[in-house]
Amino acid sequence: MRIVACTEGSFGKIEPFSLEMITAARMAGAAGDEVVAFFAGQDPEPAVTSLGAADRLVAASAGNTQLIAAESYARLLADTVAAEEPGLVLVPYSANGLDVAGDLAARTGWPLVSYVNEISRDGDWLAVVAQVYGGKILAECSVPLPAILMVNPGAFAEAERRAVDPSKLQHSDATPVVAEGKVRLVGVEVPNYDGVDLTTAERIVCVGRGIGDEASIDIARGLADILGAEIAGSRPVVDSGWLPKVRQVGKSGQKVKPKLYLALGVSGAPEHLEGMSKSDLIIAVNTDPKAPIFNVAHFGATCDLFDLVANLSERLQTGR
Ligand SMILES: Cc1cc2nc3c(=O)[nH]c(=O)nc-3n(C[C@H](O)[C@H](O)[C@H](O)COP(=O)(O)OP(=O)(O)OC[C@H]3O[C@@H](n4cnc5c(N)ncnc54)[C@H](O)[C@@H]3O)c2cc1C
Repeated sequence: MRIVACTEGSFGKIEPFSLEMITAARMAGAAGDEVVAFFAGQDPEPAVTSLGAADRLVAASAGNTQLIAAESYARLLADTVAAEEPGLVLVPYSANGLDVAGDLAARTGWPLVSYVNEISRDGDWLAVVAQVYGGKILAECSVPLPAILMVNPGAFAEAERRAVDPSKLQHSDATPVVAEGKVRLVGVEVPNYDGVDLTTAERIVCVGRGIGDEASIDIARGLADILGAEIAGSRPVVDSGWLPKVRQVGKSGQKVKPKLYLALGVSGAPEHLEGMSKSDLIIAVNTDPKAPIFNVAHFGATCDLFDLVANLSERLQTGR
């Protein structure tokens, strides 16, 4: 069987989850299966220098656009699927993948399972574990092949980053497909990080909706100051305007890997875990013992965050 692993990259970089898709493809594959990485973007170079762990790379590029819209990516992928006739297509759960996976399922009529964390092969079927309700429930699914899986970033380890052998590269010009697309790129705005760089922070105290209100963030900020940590927030905290966007962790925020990540009142939705699950040490505080954040936490406390922050701050200050 052939497995197509979709990959993404822009501004000279490959998304790390691209390498995870190759690992996921190997997990789903059997001996003799071929893993084909698919890439569409402005510049094929980051894919060519990184995705050598796949057996082949099919890359389409359009040098005249900074980003390829999901509509065009999906068209290019559909052409590749028609040519390669894979038994399985893996799409990352990304902003692009959300549009692309549904498009491909509609075109092919193949089953699509989203939020996939685990994959194993059972003959002509796959056994898949997928998250539902923000990770509170894990669904075990049997999926007949051919199929499409949308895989959670962070669920699989990254495959080794190495260059693609030139004989294994098939490159095409995506410019005509992009030109025919109805979705046009108007511009790219790079966020103003204002001196805040969570991606290099060694310690982060992250507040979730459990913090309750904007004023209470000062309590967590006090603990962050004592720990020499940056303060960060989940998306609802940022959407509420309690912290600036540059301090958001997750799928649509920063991807962080500090030595210490203290999560206060964060439930641990897949979109949040995507940004922090690779932290060296994760400590979670949540009143709900079933909160999915505890699935990735090294240590956890099921108590009121305000009690814990007050006690911990006092002990750290008094040294007792
Ligand atoms: C395309 C897309 C992109 C997204 N991108 C992001 C992203 O980048 N980052 C992100 O965070 N989310 C993102 N989300 C949203 C994500 O799905 C969740 O909705 C969000 O992460 C939930 O935030 P939360 O954990 O703060 O809130 P909730 O899920 O409401 O969790 C609050 C938690 O606080 C606990 N709690 C309440 N009171 C206390 C207390 N006193 N003490 C201790 N614990 C308490 C509760 O038990 C609960 O578990 C995205 C969603 C989509 C669809």
